[in-house]
Amino acid sequence: MHNQALQTLKSVFGYDAFRGQQAAIIERICTGNDALVLMPTGGGKSLCYQLPAVLLDGLTVVVSPLIALMQDQVASLEELGVSAAALNSSLSHDEQRDIADRLRRNEIKLLYLAPERLVQPRMLAFLQHLPIRLFAIDEAHCVSQWGHDFRPEYLQLGQLAELFPKVPRIALTATADKRTREEIIQRLHLQQAECFLSSFDRPNIFYRITPKDNPRKQLLDFLAQRKGDAGIIYCLSRKSVESTAEFLSGKGIPALPYHAGLDNTMRADNQKRFLNEEGLIMVATIAFGMGIDKSNVRFVAHLDLPKSLEAYYQETGRAGRDGLPADAWMVYGLQDVLLLKQMLSNSEGDERHKRVEQHKLEAMLALCEETRCRRQALLAYFDEDLPQPCGHCDNCIDTIETWDGTDAARQALSAIHRTGQRYGVGYLTDVLMGRENDRVRALGHQHLSVFGIGKALNEHQWRSLFRQLVARSLIDVDVEGFGGLRLSETCRPLLRGETTLLLRRDLTPQTKAPRSASQASQLVRADEREMWEALRTLRRQLAEEHSVPPYVIFPDSTLLEMLREQPEDLDDMGEISGVGARKLERYGAAFLRVLNQVEAPAAKPTPNSQDLRHELVTLARSGMTPEQISQQMQCSLKNVYSLMAQAISGGLLSLEDALDLPEELLGNIQDAFLEGDGELPSVASIAEQFTPQVEEGVLYCVRAALQAEFGGIA
Ligand code: ADP
Ligand code: ZN
Repeated sequence: MHNQALQTLKSVFGYDAFRGQQAAIIERICTGNDALVLMPTGGGKSLCYQLPAVLLDGLTVVVSPLIALMQDQVASLEELGVSAAALNSSLSHDEQRDIADRLRRNEIKLLYLAPERLVQPRMLAFLQHLPIRLFAIDEAHCVSQWGHDFRPEYLQLGQLAELFPKVPRIALTATADKRTREEIIQRLHLQQAECFLSSFDRPNIFYRITPKDNPRKQLLDFLAQRKGDAGIIYCLSRKSVESTAEFLSGKGIPALPYHAGLDNTMRADNQKRFLNEEGLIMVATIAFGMGIDKSNVRFVAHLDLPKSLEAYYQETGRAGRDGLPADAWMVYGLQDVLLLKQMLSNSEGDERHKRVEQHKLEAMLALCEETRCRRQALLAYFDEDLPQPCGHCDNCIDTIETWDGTDAARQALSAIHRTGQRYGVGYLTDVLMGRENDRVRALGHQHLSVFGIGKALNEHQWRSLFRQLVARSLIDVDVEGFGGLRLSETCRPLLRGETTLLLRRDLTPQTKAPRSASQASQLVRADEREMWEALRTLRRQLAEEHSVPPYVIFPDSTLLEMLREQPEDLDDMGEISGVGARKLERYGAAFLRVLNQVEAPAAKPTPNSQDLRHELVTLARSGMTPEQISQQMQCSLKNVYSLMAQAISGGLLSLEDALDLPEELLGNIQDAFLEGDGELPSVASIAEQFTPQVEEGVLYCVRAALQAEFGGIA
């Protein structure tokens, strides 16, 4: 079965290897068993049932909650040459009858249905007569009443177990928490299912969270490095969605607004444009998201703070589904914290519910103020342990300074106390810095003992301090009044001098992070631009001809590989990841023509090799494979290995961090090097024993490690 699956993977889907647990999952359901698949967005869930659907002789029924999603998937499958259909209310009577006829003639491999449609008695009766081999339940977390996507219709899917006892079922979701998982198993009767839980890390996303300073300028700086990229910008309110979209358009940056208050046509139009055009930015409230299958969203930016880490993870997760580098970028400030706390306390619901929400917000704030690796913190919240700092977030690559804020915090707390616990940050800062203005004089606060005791810090630093105190709940916000600050219960130990406080030093505009740090998402180099645009233009034309979104023709990752590999004929083209037999036949020649017309980019200029080595070390430590690193750094695999070997022999990187070699193989290679005495033999002299199974680069790395260990003499 495995060979057959691999063959289909290549010939139909155009991929060389399975990702993560795909092979095991496919094996499980092809042998007639149930499976529950928990995989992050972009992990490759669809393949887990689409490939079996192609392999199995009969029909696969896919339950999916959104019509837009279904249509996208059907279009993608048709492009691959797999016959698929979706039955939904947007079809005419005739179209529906046509699909029913094709189903009876066994001409369809995958049928997509909304849950409410599936469980209609007439539909169930119809399906009983078809040779169904598999049920796939997508977005299975919709069955959970605790989640935010609860769909009552999903509850009825449990009956499939009784109605079709012999048909295996696979449920898939990108929501991993334990409670949801248990609810899925129970409500969908999946007690017999094997659970496949993947890591929820999204290694291609670069996380950055910066204190809000001048958000529009910060946003423009961020976007300036991402011209032509598609992205989503999340704002809290409809008003700020509209003003931000307008502001960007005014600056010549193509941006569209999206929120629940727009009329239906405009909303649908904007969404459609975002999916179908390249390089558009959607400025949106959280109403925009579910069902956005666009794989090449290059960044998600937050101008306002999400309410929880769950929301942050889900929203940022819409970036980089294609596995190519993408950015999650956020600015946040004191005002956000105040606003959210206010909204929370004014929200409906009982005290218990509010307390839960409060904790969620605190976890979000803790991530913002985190001084260690963001990815470690984020995953830890979801009970996943990332042993090493990731090397691919702002905290890992910038120097994060901390300072002892104990004394300053106590001054701030006293100022709040002495002024009667009713003033906001601006006024408190005036008092602390000893600014004798009208308001201070009117209240007589220039006579307080705290007046002017905080001159050692500047305004910027005081704001940062107050923000961190609120974020840590050492200060409460008077949410009924005008946002005045009050002492909270938890600040007592600090006031009494029993605890100390380590704070994050904000980067001021002068001490800004190095530019290169945030350029993680630049896909193509300047000299590759022309060819890249030519490939995208062709893709857009083909997409229009076929009435599908461009990424259904080919994802960005496939275009990028064409650009880098420069296939010369159809055979070469067939080797590109994502080019299956059908697409090769349909589009191969057209893309070859474009590749031949535009002059190939010149060889890459060599950046400072020390910088390259540094980047490599961080990526390798973050657990990326040499292949992934070569994609990320846009340099050849050979170069990656050579840089790795240099880093290893220089003691900058351990062999274990660099490569994931089976122990036995590693032992064999080491033995080969250590045979004989004197100098280590060259790679060339032992390569024959190991190639082609082992990349030559691997041998260089092992040799470098031995060299580092024994100083060159064995
Ligand atoms: P999910 O539904 O889990 O968010 P998708 O099924 O949309 O993820 O897959 C994400 C991307 O990864 C798609 O572009 C898909 O074609 C691609 N993909 C899936 N499996 C593989 C594989 N084995 N090799 C290469 N690309 C893959
Ligand atoms: Zn990190």
